[in-house]
Amino acid sequence: MAKSDPLDTPMMRQYLATKREHPDCMLFMRMGDFYEVFLDDAEEAARILGITLTSRNKDDPNPVAMAGVPHHALAQHMPKLLAAGKRVAIMDQLEDPKASKGLVKRGLSRIISAGTCIEDDLLEARSERLLVAITALQGPCAVAACDIAGGTVWVEACADTPALMSALARWQPAELLLPQALFERDDRDMQLTQLWDGMQPPPCAGLAGSTWNPDEAWRWLCQELQVATLAGMGIADDERQLAAAAAAAVRYARNNAGDHLQHLRRLRRLRGDDYLILDGHCQRNLELVRNQRDGGRAHTLLATVDRCRTAPGSRLLARWLVRPLADTAPLMQRHEAVAFLLAEADLRARLRHDLDAVYDLERLVGRIASGRANARDLIQLASSLHAARAISERFSQHQQPQLIADMLPCLEDSDGLAQRISQQLVDHPPLSINEGGMIRDGIDTELDDLRRIRSGAGDWLAQYQHQQAQALGLKSLKVGYNKVFGYFIELGKQHADHVPDSYTRKQTLVNAERYITPELKDYEDQVLGAEDRIRTRERLLFDQLRDAIMTRLDDLQASADALSHLDVVAALAEVAQREGWCRPQLDPSTAIHLEQARHPVVEAVLGPGRFIANDCHLDADREHETPSLLVLTGPNMAGKSTYIRQVALAVILAQAGSFVPASKAHIGIVDRLFTRIGAGDELARNMSTFMVEMAETAAILNNATQRSLVILDEVGRGTSTFDGLSLAWAITEYLHDQLGCRCLFATHYHELTELAGERSGIHNCTVQVAEQDDDVIFMHRIIDGAATKSYGIHVARLAGVPDSVIARARHVLANLDDLNLCLGERERPSAAPATASSDGDSPMQLSIFASEPSPLLRELAALDSNDLSPRQAWDTIDALIAQARKECR
Ligand code: ADP
Ligand code: MG
Repeated sequence: MAKSDPLDTPMMRQYLATKREHPDCMLFMRMGDFYEVFLDDAEEAARILGITLTSRNKDDPNPVAMAGVPHHALAQHMPKLLAAGKRVAIMDQLEDPKASKGLVKRGLSRIISAGTCIEDDLLEARSERLLVAITALQGPCAVAACDIAGGTVWVEACADTPALMSALARWQPAELLLPQALFERDDRDMQLTQLWDGMQPPPCAGLAGSTWNPDEAWRWLCQELQVATLAGMGIADDERQLAAAAAAAVRYARNNAGDHLQHLRRLRRLRGDDYLILDGHCQRNLELVRNQRDGGRAHTLLATVDRCRTAPGSRLLARWLVRPLADTAPLMQRHEAVAFLLAEADLRARLRHDLDAVYDLERLVGRIASGRANARDLIQLASSLHAARAISERFSQHQQPQLIADMLPCLEDSDGLAQRISQQLVDHPPLSINEGGMIRDGIDTELDDLRRIRSGAGDWLAQYQHQQAQALGLKSLKVGYNKVFGYFIELGKQHADHVPDSYTRKQTLVNAERYITPELKDYEDQVLGAEDRIRTRERLLFDQLRDAIMTRLDDLQASADALSHLDVVAALAEVAQREGWCRPQLDPSTAIHLEQARHPVVEAVLGPGRFIANDCHLDADREHETPSLLVLTGPNMAGKSTYIRQVALAVILAQAGSFVPASKAHIGIVDRLFTRIGAGDELARNMSTFMVEMAETAAILNNATQRSLVILDEVGRGTSTFDGLSLAWAITEYLHDQLGCRCLFATHYHELTELAGERSGIHNCTVQVAEQDDDVIFMHRIIDGAATKSYGIHVARLAGVPDSVIARARHVLANLDDLNLCLGERERPSAAPATASSDGDSPMQLSIFASEPSPLLRELAALDSNDLSPRQAWDTIDALIAQARKECR
């Protein structure tokens, strides 16, 4: 007899049918109290989640692999699945299994993917989870970034591939959506890796169909938003590609969510020209919102300035920081608002206090619109709206700056929604919206009547018990209730003979019998019915209230926006006041003048009073005497990188709308900011090839304008000294002569300082070092001039290299200096400056130049730094030190 196919059962057929429709998802099917997953998905789920892999029919020669999680624990497991790049389809029971005969009907309820999940457990309060749709893998390209929880879709056009890369770096998509044809390309992963600049791209999905057709998308969006044209949202008629990206993102999100996501209706057009352009390196190197160590928030610019009281405030601030403005007028408005709240300390304190009563309005609105809200959410909404109103009243007593004045009308709760919610809902409603207990008494007469029936219960029962006890003359007669049997009359076994005919036996206990009577049954029906009807009625009233809120989605989103703006400007005022920051003067010049500037993050790490402030003066205008390019030399660990980064951060803060960590700041608006860190220093990418470094440098040289600011840190280090030096030299010349932009170049090539002698726009500076006996102190103060020594040996000693090695190194250095002096001008590279001679004791002759090179040197010579990962470099240094110790013994 043929064995039956284990996959050919009604249940497995049901599972496999849905799986066929969503082959790229891991399908979890609800079965009783579990969500189960089968076959290959089961094996993968078991591996990712660390759950047990079992099988459905253990005795069969071909058992079906199965794994499962308790239904209440599914959300808990989701982050791991999403982190592994999975999309998860959830299949639920569409009917009560108890009521159904045979196979329970099941259907797909939603798909959870990294970019579309809106479950609170999966969202971080202070950062967005974005689904980003792109129409091409190379520029020109339209990009839509969709914040489903908050309800906004931003669209932007990227003219070329670098612009696309920079946009993707800014959005940091949780999931990327592509047209199906691109998704299926063989070289997709390679293209994405290039777009992500060597970093790991997010999970990616393809979307088929006409969704991406620009005309169709345009029509669809107009219909959805109930507008005749998208021009009002800044999308011109000939920019339908933008509509295509937006429509694709929204449709995919809706498909996945399995509901209407009606709040997803704020379409915002962003224009590259309005913003200071920061590419991916810049965002990474300057650690604006994510650090390089683990991608977290610690020690980032955002973490340092974020004094927001609300989560949406923090999210808005993060957007401001990665998207600083390039236009003076709106910036003035932000600075004006910050200045106002800085001066009005009392008002600011009250505002921040009021904001504590504001919940995440943006996401609350999303929950309400997608049908996931419960009564507690509505209470939070009401609390937020009450607070908004209080805030608006507070401000009305002051003459406000424009930005704030624009926000206030949005804070008024014009038709008393908050009032209505607080009037109808009890203060502490339950989590469930199906169990009653949400609506106050006195709101609805029908509900009140039902409740009266329910609560009359106690009186009627007591009376009935009394009456029956009297009638039978049995004082011990009791009326009670239990969940399984309902209401009953209980009598001791010994009274069984005295029971009247109207009593029907219901349950027998050890010593007693329980009965029901027609009156008691009637009563039971009425009470139990009341309970059910109360639940239904409360749910109806709740739904009505929610529907009333739904008609106000636009207003509520505007209030949410206004509150976030106020939160951010108040936070910026707070940080300005606490940290002593100044209001920057912004204008269209090409100058940067900072007095007593600090690096906000390093300063915060060092603690109060330990950071040494420095000035910075740059001007790309040749008419002025101020140099446009600074060559900064100085020993390792002196503070070069910190200094050049703090200038970039001051520009970003100023153009984001913040005050800056300086005593005085004058900044000519910067159009693009570039930072390049020499290969090997940028650990995050784990690719230390010189090629990459040069490609990046090429991008700067090709894209910087006279209004740009360029920060170069140790560029050229990824190759041999002379190559690197020559390139650094030529790059500096080009930046100065051809581009004429503002530039800070920190370098260990002392030779570059010669350029200052030849060009008036280039200036040398170095970090002050104090020498005391044998000790060297880094003053962290930037002064004019070039470094004369590198103090590498000093740094090595600080780092704990053994004394014998240090002593040996000193001898070697002295010898090398002598050797260098002995070389005639001809032998020395023309750009190399004369090094200071070492006077005093004449060092002993070094054997390394006289005899065979030591094994250590041979090993060193065999190394190629380009081939080493940071980890390997580390291990190699360890090995070399060990070797050196052996040789010095
Ligand atoms: P470099 O680039 O010259 O090697 P860094 O800029 O990386 O040096 O600075 C090294 C360390 O010196 C920093 O981590 C910080 O602790 C300290 N430092 C840098 N600049 C300052 C400063 N202005 N004031 C106080 N400490 C500083
Ligand atoms: Mg450095």
